[in-house]
Amino acid sequence: MPYKFTFDLSKIPRFVFIEIAKASYEKGMHKQVGKTAQDIIKKFKIQEATGLNLYDAVTLLEDIMDTQARNLIERERFVRTKKRALFLPHCSRKYMDGRCKAAFDPNIPSYVCAHCSKDCAVGRTTDFAQKKGYDVYILPGGSCIPKILKAKNYEGVVGVACGEEVKVGGDILKTMNVVGQNVPLIKNGCANTAFNIETLFKIL
Ligand code: SF4
Ligand code: SF4
Repeated sequence: MPYKFTFDLSKIPRFVFIEIAKASYEKGMHKQVGKTAQDIIKKFKIQEATGLNLYDAVTLLEDIMDTQARNLIERERFVRTKKRALFLPHCSRKYMDGRCKAAFDPNIPSYVCAHCSKDCAVGRTTDFAQKKGYDVYILPGGSCIPKILKAKNYEGVVGVACGEEVKVGGDILKTMNVVGQNVPLIKNGCANTAFNIETLFKIL
């Protein structure tokens, strides 16, 4: 399920996200998270930069904090995993129409990148991750995850998605005893979305 609002955090400096991760960890995770999120929203003028109302901005920030905290907690177990997959969202492809040459294979189910555009974030990340030994899947939705996990027995998964899909994916991984690391989208909308490629490369 996507958010009921659209956002674009690409104009917010990267150190803000590092601050969010530190704050969520140091403050003891969920305790006072709403108050912490509101403080960060005010401090970094996130409402002004995104046009979001306070309620939506808090929802978004809480989800980012939750993801960062889960990543920190799971990191040690994740680095010990050997067989890994990367799940990328189809909405971050450079093109959502026939100009994207990725073929969809319903048997996997996943798009298979044809590397048609050098400046496509999904194409670049696919190259990078495959060189690091990851199997890469470009998913139309979180509902594809159980079938892939059942077929392949991955120990670790890195997922990129909007906050709501990250939560759905995280719950699936937990029930299947797979260790996860996640990168939330910094621009949602289900088409022409964006993630921070440097953050993802570091996690990989
Ligand atoms: S590089 Fe891959 S994902 Fe990106 S537009 Fe081309 S085929 Fe599609
Ligand atoms: S923004 Fe992308 S990851 Fe999130 S629900 Fe839409 S298509 Fe899926």
